Amino acid sequence: MKVVLQDLTKRFASRQEKGKDVIAVNHFDFEIPDGQLVGLLGPSGCGKSTTLNLISGLETPSEGKIFFGDRDVTQLPPEERGVGLVFQNYALYPHLTVEENIIFPLQNLKGKQKMTKEAMREKALEVARLVQIDQLMERKPRELSGGQQQRVAIARALVKIPNVLLLDEPLSNLDARLRLQTREELRRIQRDTGVTTIFVTHDQEEAMSISDLIIVMKDGVVNQIGKPQEVYDDPVNLFVAQFLGTPAINVLEGEIRDGSLYIGQEAVLPMAGKAEGPVWVGIRPEGFVLDEKGPFTCEMDRVEVMGRDVSVVCRHAKMTGRNLRAIIPAESGVRPGQREVRFSLKPYKVFVFDRESEARR
Ligand code: ADP
Ligand code: MG
Repeated sequence: MKVVLQDLTKRFASRQEKGKDVIAVNHFDFEIPDGQLVGLLGPSGCGKSTTLNLISGLETPSEGKIFFGDRDVTQLPPEERGVGLVFQNYALYPHLTVEENIIFPLQNLKGKQKMTKEAMREKALEVARLVQIDQLMERKPRELSGGQQQRVAIARALVKIPNVLLLDEPLSNLDARLRLQTREELRRIQRDTGVTTIFVTHDQEEAMSISDLIIVMKDGVVNQIGKPQEVYDDPVNLFVAQFLGTPAINVLEGEIRDGSLYIGQEAVLPMAGKAEGPVWVGIRPEGFVLDEKGPFTCEMDRVEVMGRDVSVVCRHAKMTGRNLRAIIPAESGVRPGQREVRFSLKPYKVFVFDRESEARR
């Protein structure tokens, strides 16, 4: 079922400053398409959990509306919205078995929806199979690994066949390997069920790897919505460009003049038709080509071996923050003892941003 947020806003009284408001969700206006997995992505405190809580009904909006399909659910309590919720802390009932935990949401169904014990057990087994915990039905939560507990939580959220599945940083408590595995399973479960799913994370790689669509937020404001690759290849501003990608994009001071992009004294790329003046230049680490006659010169610090590729770590006077990083194929022939290294740049890996507004030029 599609979810539509219409001019949705949530203000909280500030915890720090009396009489001041925090705008956790600032005029959200977008549609989450039916049957898709959408990654809601942004740094800690940007309003991700608040957005989910508004959709689930745990919070009421200060302004705006929420629709599930064509139905306005803004005033409905959480239990009437048909949402499945999974949080970072799985919050299973410790004294109940896996089966009893999964059945739990079915027990308070009323009227026509009321189910027999047998039907509930059957339904529980069906979702347990889906998340591959059907062999563990008699266990108590403490007899399960973290990953297995999280799957029980997902099964419990799915058992009523929700209109929307909401996942708030569901993998954060898992160790690295289990995170990878569980995120792939989440993707599979979502495909198998076709349930519209909103997945909250601060981890850009996690969001990029499994989402049909990502929504990048900052300070309660949606900055960009799109397919992961599109957002990566075409960021609207410096924040989005910096938030996506590991290693992060390199940001340098630059200037557009005489139809070229200059970094320091070097004209590194032709750049006709753009307004002249100082800019921020973002260069993706994979945007460098080792080239003896290249226009962009750096002072080499070290070469880090990554296997197939190497990471060339350099210093550059115009670089902001940290060292510059170029990822090039290991066979490119960079010599670890080399002092100076020259590159040419792949134009589609270089973005320029306004110095003031930081919007893409
Ligand atoms: P995220 O999940 O992206 O880390 P949250 O949605 O939890 O962010 O919080 C967004 C902002 O709203 C933060 O500044 C947070 O401090 C504030 N906030 C969240 N809940 C409350 C609340 N109940 N009262 C006051 N401020 C809140
Ligand atoms: Mg949160």
